[in-house]
Amino acid sequence: MGDGSADPRRRVPRTDTLLADPRLAAAVGTLGRDRVKAAIGQAQQRARRGEITPDEVPDDALAALPAPAPRAVLNATGVVLHTNLGRAPLSPAAVAAVVAAAGHTDVELDLRTGRRARRGRDALDALAAAVPDAGAVHVVNNGAAALVLAATALAADAEIVVSRGELVEIGDGFRLPDLLESTGARLREVGTTNRTSLDDYARAVGPRTGFVLKVHPSNFVVTGFTSAVGVRELATLGVPVVADIGSGLLAPDPLLLDEPDAASTLRAGATLVTASGDKLLGGPQAGLLLGDAALVERLRRHPLARALRVDKLTLAALAATLHTPDTPTRAALHADPARLRARAESLRDALGADGCKAEVVPSAAVVGGGGAPGVELDSWALSLPGAYAEPLRLGEPPVLGRVVRGRLLLDLRCVPAAADPVLREAVLRAVG
Ligand SMILES: *Cc1c(COP(=O)(O)O)cnc(C)c1O
Repeated sequence: MGDGSADPRRRVPRTDTLLADPRLAAAVGTLGRDRVKAAIGQAQQRARRGEITPDEVPDDALAALPAPAPRAVLNATGVVLHTNLGRAPLSPAAVAAVVAAAGHTDVELDLRTGRRARRGRDALDALAAAVPDAGAVHVVNNGAAALVLAATALAADAEIVVSRGELVEIGDGFRLPDLLESTGARLREVGTTNRTSLDDYARAVGPRTGFVLKVHPSNFVVTGFTSAVGVRELATLGVPVVADIGSGLLAPDPLLLDEPDAASTLRAGATLVTASGDKLLGGPQAGLLLGDAALVERLRRHPLARALRVDKLTLAALAATLHTPDTPTRAALHADPARLRARAESLRDALGADGCKAEVVPSAAVVGGGGAPGVELDSWALSLPGAYAEPLRLGEPPVLGRVVRGRLLLDLRCVPAAADPVLREAVLRAVG
C-alpha cells in the first residue's frame, strides 16, 4: 500500500499549470481557450486512467489540437528569401501596423475633411519618397500582377518585344511568357538564349509594339558566351521600356552589385519598373509599379486594377516597411559573419552542457527567392546528425535546416539572435 503521492495519477498537472505551457498558451491565442481546455481535460483524463504519464499530458493535449496553418517556423536554411517559408518576414514595425490596421481604419478616408481619400496614400507616398526618380507609383497584389496590369493596359492587341534569354519560369510551374500571353498580348521574341543584341530589338520594334520588356534573371545565371542589352540602350528604341527587376531593391545595395534597383533602372530610362514587395525590400507580398506619371495613372485607372487591388493590411505593412527600412531581411543579408560564428559557438557550448554534441561549421547562405542568384553570403551553422532534420521540422516551433552530406546544418544567418534560446530548446527536444 503506497503513499498516495507516489501514484502517478495523483500528480496529473493542473489546468492552470498546463495553460502556462508556452505552446498551449500560443494555441489559446489561435484556437481559443475552450478548445484548448477541452484538449487539456482529455489529456488529464488519460493520465488519471494511467494511459499516459503526467509528464506526457502537455504533449498529449497539444497533439489533440489541430495545428494552426500557416505556422510560424524558424528559418535555419541559410536561404534569406525562401518562397516556401513565406519569403520576407515582416519587421516589428510592419507587424504593429498590420495589427493596428486590422480593425476599422482610415485607409480610404481623410480624417481632416471627412471625405474619401486616395486609398493607401501613406504607403504610396512613402514609396514615391523612397524613389524620387519615379513620376508616380502604384501597388498591386504581387510582382506577377504588376506585369499582368502593364501587359493588359499597354499591350493587349499589341506586341511585347522580349529577349529569348529572359522568358523565365518564376516557380511552381508558372512562366512569364504564359502569364503575359494570358492578357491577350503577343510576345515578339528576339535574340537567343545566351545572346541578344540591340539590333535584334531594333528590327522587331514597329507600329505593333506595345512595349519592350526587360526581365531580370532573378533565379538563375547564364555564364560563358553571353550578351544582353541593358535598359539604357533599350531606352533609345523610341518605345516604352518596362523593366521587371523582380527583387524590389529600391536603391543600390553594395552587397548585391549585380542586382538592379528601381532608382537606377528609372534613371537609365525605363518607362516603368515592376517589382515584388516581399523580396529584398523585406515587406509584405505586393507588386510595385514605378515610373512615368501618365502611364502609371493609366494603369491605376484600368478596370483590371480594381481586381488586383491590395488590402488594407498589405498597405499598412508596406507603409511601415518603407518608413522603417531596417527589416529582418536586411538584417539577415547584412549580418556580420563573426557575430554569427560567436552565436553558433555559444549555442554549441550550451547544447554541450546539456549533453548534446553539435559542431560549428562555416556555411554559405544565399539570397534565394528571386534575388541575387549566384551570390553566396559567408555564414556559420551548427552541424548535427542528419537524422535530427525530421524531429526538428515536426517540433514546435518547426525548425528548418539544410541537410548536406548526411549532416543537418542549422545556419544562423536568418535566425534572429533573440531566437537562439528557442533554437537551443528545439534542438534539445528533438535530440532528447
Ligand atoms: C519574383 C519575380 C516575379 C514574380 O513576382 P511575385 O511577387 O512572386 O508575383 C516576376 N519577375 C521576376 C524577375 C521575379 O524575380
